[in-house]
Amino acid sequence: FYSISGSDFVEMFVGVGAARVRDLFREAQTKAPCIVFIDEIDAVGRQRGVSLGVVNDEREQTLNQLLSEMDGFEPNSGVVLLAATNRPEVLDRALLRPGRFDRQVVLDAPDRTGRLEILKVHARDKPMDAGVDLDALARATPGMVGADLANALNEAALLAARRGHERILPADVDDALERVVAGPERRSRRLSDPEKRRVAWHEGGHALVASSLPAADPVRKVSIVPRGRGALGYTMQLPREEVLLRTRAELEDRLTVLLAGRSSEELGCGEISTGAVDDLQQATALARQMVCLFGMSEDVGLPQCAREMEGVFLRREDGALLLDGSEVTARRVDVEVRRLLDEARGRAREILARRRDVLERVVDALLERETLDGDELAEIVGEV
Ligand code: ZN
Repeated sequence: FYSISGSDFVEMFVGVGAARVRDLFREAQTKAPCIVFIDEIDAVGRQRGVSLGVVNDEREQTLNQLLSEMDGFEPNSGVVLLAATNRPEVLDRALLRPGRFDRQVVLDAPDRTGRLEILKVHARDKPMDAGVDLDALARATPGMVGADLANALNEAALLAARRGHERILPADVDDALERVVAGPERRSRRLSDPEKRRVAWHEGGHALVASSLPAADPVRKVSIVPRGRGALGYTMQLPREEVLLRTRAELEDRLTVLLAGRSSEELGCGEISTGAVDDLQQATALARQMVCLFGMSEDVGLPQCAREMEGVFLRREDGALLLDGSEVTARRVDVEVRRLLDEARGRAREILARRRDVLERVVDALLERETLDGDELAEIVGEV
């Protein structure tokens, strides 16, 4: 088994990479049957003739050599060539022709069963307490890939060691997951009392509206402890099950929850702040997708009027859209996005005003305890 990274072929000196490719294949053929694995194939396999420069010349020569080696195979020469990339869209077409890399295996983010199996692998050589429920952890981590899961368990081990535990306890795993999702706690960042009150109203608003809407994802945790970069508090929602499709009602509820933070600040503090910047960004992106991609606006109708930006990563950032339509359409899109957001804010305000006494209890509990988990929140909010 030969393993090499694509970037190992790329040198400043023209011709070196091509020679390395040749050597690799000569050696592989003497050891056949064998497997050659090239990681990060995009380092050499990028579309030819796109940019200029010495490195580019070198890369093209290396790629040409690779292409001709792959052609030169006898059908039974016994060398299997595997390669990996997370940027399939930049690869040169010639690499993907039949006879070359003609089978493609897409490794998507794993589903719940997949995550459980991955967690088992990473838990194997760690002293896990019997109380740690990997199945529950797999359920709580939709969208995470292998590296995220490994990272979560490593964080748990670090926390356990720092706290002097003999084994990794369920609490260590819980806190580690929070660190991975929201960044580490930053207790050193002191909020003034009025700021703390404002954050409590903001997060309390998200949490109350999320628990009041039947189609919104349940709240797992709400906190006013500053975390990671910039977040002064957060409300963590997780879907009940793996979700592949979202209905319009679910998306509208999501918008309502996103806008509830600011509406709640308005209600409790009488003044709005910059604290809603992430919420507004996410809500705008989602509303634009609903109008432009999902055909969910009556006025704009079914034609798709935006393209998703060419994904640089397989896990695209949300809402990177390029508007694609006439000026009239663009104006309609703006109006519709605005309408969706205004309606969502209206619903959020209505819920917050109607349940204001409950909201105040949530805010008080947050100011007192700083963090509430899903059960504690449900106890305050009660049945919808
Ligand atoms: Zn918010």
